Amino acid sequence: MEKPLYPSPYMRITQGYMTGTHRDSYAIDDAGSDSGIDYIIAPFTGIIKKIYPSDANEVWLESLEPVIYPDGTVDYMTMLFAHDNDVSNLFVGKVIAKGERFYEEGTKGNASGNHVHMECGKGKFTGSGWHQNNSGYWSINNGKNPTECLWIDDSITILNSNGYTFKKIVEETPSSSTENIEEPIIDDNEEETPSVTTESDSNREETTTKPEENEPPPKLIFTCQKDDTYAIELKKGQKLYLS
Ligand SMILES: [Zn+2]
Repeated sequence: MEKPLYPSPYMRITQGYMTGTHRDSYAIDDAGSDSGIDYIIAPFTGIIKKIYPSDANEVWLESLEPVIYPDGTVDYMTMLFAHDNDVSNLFVGKVIAKGERFYEEGTKGNASGNHVHMECGKGKFTGSGWHQNNSGYWSINNGKNPTECLWIDDSITILNSNGYTFKKIVEETPSSSTENIEEPIIDDNEEETPSVTTESDSNREETTTKPEENEPPPKLIFTCQKDDTYAIELKKGQKLYLS
């Protein structure tokens, strides 16, 4: 299940929610890396439910599947984006993959300077997608605080979070500690499983278990470029060797 990712790779929130033209809504404006036109990536795999070209080229993207909210809630999510100058690449019913560049900042509609206006809504697209709020602004149905909808990770550069805190996606490691990762992990039906915790650092080299003779030689799939914690998806029966 997907965790919706903050859709601007350079977070620079120039107007927060519940203020100015965002009164009575959880809308935020993001102006990206600079004054030029930055792209917006799909926060989740979704389908375009509505485009409103006569105003600010508003686009509603509804998640194809339920997503995981930062508090652990699982539900559909709908997002509204506005101000792209040209949405001729989009149409209702188009499916956008998570991470795909599908929208851009712009100035279409009531916008000063290139930015994207975005709002999160809990659940699926409903009704016409939005309603006029008590301050007279059109805002997404079932609007929800973006910090309670969107996650961040290391791919997001935070230039100005406007004081908001977004929950970070923490990658899960295949074993519980880096200590274990340094040893080959043998995962099969053999009775004996090499101990991975009792060897001292001094004889770690010598105790490295070699792949069995009848196994195909290990295939290089990844060379680690920097110290970090990595997640890896393994299929049942696959073996992992590290050197
Ligand atoms: Zn706005």
